[in-house]
Amino acid sequence: MTSDSPLLAPSDLPYGLPRYDRITPEQYLPAFEQAFAEHRREIGNITRVRSMATFENTMVPLERSGALLDRVARTFYTVSSADATDEIQRIEEQLAPLMSAHEDAIRLDGALYVRIAHLHENLDRLDLDDEQRYLAQRHYTEMTHAGAALDEAAKTRLTELNQRLATLTTTFEKQLLADTNDLAVVFDDAAELDGLSEGALSAAAQAATDRGLEGKYVITLTLFTGHPYLANLTNRDSRRKIMDASRSRGSRGNADDNRATLLEIVRLRAERARLLGFSTHAEYITDDQTARTPEAVEAMLRRLASPAAANARREQEALQATPGAPDPFAAHDWAFYTEKVRATTYDIDTAALRPWFEAERVLQDGVFHAASLLYGLRFTERRDLPTYHPDVRVFEIHNEDGSALGLYLLDLYTRDTKRGGAWMNSIAVQSELRGHAPIVVNNLNVPKPAAGKPTLLSLDEVTTLFHEFGHALHGLFATVTYPHFGGTAVFRDFVEFPSQVNEMWILWAEVLDNYARHFETGEPLDA
Ligand SMILES: [Zn+2]
Repeated sequence: MTSDSPLLAPSDLPYGLPRYDRITPEQYLPAFEQAFAEHRREIGNITRVRSMATFENTMVPLERSGALLDRVARTFYTVSSADATDEIQRIEEQLAPLMSAHEDAIRLDGALYVRIAHLHENLDRLDLDDEQRYLAQRHYTEMTHAGAALDEAAKTRLTELNQRLATLTTTFEKQLLADTNDLAVVFDDAAELDGLSEGALSAAAQAATDRGLEGKYVITLTLFTGHPYLANLTNRDSRRKIMDASRSRGSRGNADDNRATLLEIVRLRAERARLLGFSTHAEYITDDQTARTPEAVEAMLRRLASPAAANARREQEALQATPGAPDPFAAHDWAFYTEKVRATTYDIDTAALRPWFEAERVLQDGVFHAASLLYGLRFTERRDLPTYHPDVRVFEIHNEDGSALGLYLLDLYTRDTKRGGAWMNSIAVQSELRGHAPIVVNNLNVPKPAAGKPTLLSLDEVTTLFHEFGHALHGLFATVTYPHFGGTAVFRDFVEFPSQVNEMWILWAEVLDNYARHFETGEPLDA
């Protein structure tokens, strides 16, 4: 049965896009098992070599190894973050400790570490280009950081800790998603949602229908301890209900209470840090990031914290002085009165901007337009290619000279099976060694309007789309030889740079004028 699994052979689709039309959930675990075995075999072939380690006999096969696992894992994790049905969640829970054990088996492999340490010691004597040199350095640093230099007893305990942490992290995500869905706020009457746009109201009615609550309205929660609708809802009690629901996630004493899970994660991370020679988890993590130390992170936060707190206090005073503002002022009032102050003091009504931010125009005439002005990219929608969910769209991207660059998938809408927030991930990372072109995905959580209604974005959502597309460009523009550096594989505390640069074009006149048109009249946004 597994031999005809579409996961085991490279896909015949353009750019190797996974055959999501043929993959079924029960194929994932057997494919992972086979991929783990293949990867272990490949590593065994490297460490069995009796001659001295060279870049060619160690680093190159190491970079080629794990190709099947990489493909299966990227195919699966794309789905498990954006469309985690119960079945996918069960697979992810089973998979988490297996994946962790496999990763440890490779990065704590003593024989492999000896070869890489030898290369690292002799770096100056080897004839390597910059990328090769950095590759050897990174493998050495990452294996050392993971604990490859520890004794066997410590490695055994480390592997146990990592497996337990992988399970706990998966449990945490699963419980958070379940509680977020369970806490979606149901309203019986549209009057309780006064202030929402017609589109937002239709999305709430649709969400209710999807849950079998015909005629009612459901406001699904976002990732954050706030909600975009708090700025618009005139009914204070409705605002309070949404804020209370958002804040109570994971701590209600029900089956999805995350507090015990979180506590165990913190304890095990502390134990792991000590095992690896660090005094705290923060020290362990920052050691291999650009910040280097928790003190550097704290110094940066301290520089920001007191001016930010002073600003917030001043803002609160101004908000409380607004006519009609409640006393005492509560967290669920903040966004609503911020909007009022904006309207009266600065004459800006952000809710009124939505008709100028119709999603398709923002995407095609804004996000894509900016990328074609800047980089000469051309986008063609490929409706013929299968995806993991009907809402996902596929675009093929060509360079200015007509050469193929890669695929961009956009999964715009929120759903109960999607985790909160917005992100970019890669289904395939560019690498010359493996001959791969990039396939990148952007996920957002925009409420889906009822059929036939336009998707009108808020300025925040427009910002998110440009931001995530900046990460997508980072993955698309990668031109590396070795897959270790493909995609957006840079230090975690640097990775937000390209996405923030891409946000710059949102209000750039040439871009804004092109996309911010009224969805009915086509009128430009009056500056
Ligand atoms: Zn980001």
